[in-house]
Amino acid sequence: VAALNESKDHIAETTVYRNIEMLAKEGFIKVISLLEGHNRYELDRGDHHHHLVCTNCDKIVPVEMEEHLTETEHKLEKQHNFKITSHSLEFFGICSQCG
Ligand SMILES: [Zn+2]
Ligand SMILES: [Zn+2]
Repeated sequence: VAALNESKDHIAETTVYRNIEMLAKEGFIKVISLLEGHNRYELDRGDHHHHLVCTNCDKIVPVEMEEHLTETEHKLEKQHNFKITSHSLEFFGICSQCG
């Protein structure tokens, strides 16, 4: 998937982008929304996780941390009378290779 971001050919990029949008709609891949409107994509293996994103080299590391988030979701649902059905959460910073 990383190779898709390295394409220099604009036409190929557009085609790839359309294919990715289609795959995302079909549920085969997940969109990871990053800062400043940049999106990354990964295969949807059916597991829920979050990401550590290196802002220097764009490396993305999947991490799990649901315990605290379930509590937070319950709190927010009560506070705002809002039914939460999903969430996404990314952490931005510098990876060990860049730091
Ligand atoms: Zn890095
Ligand atoms: Zn989560």
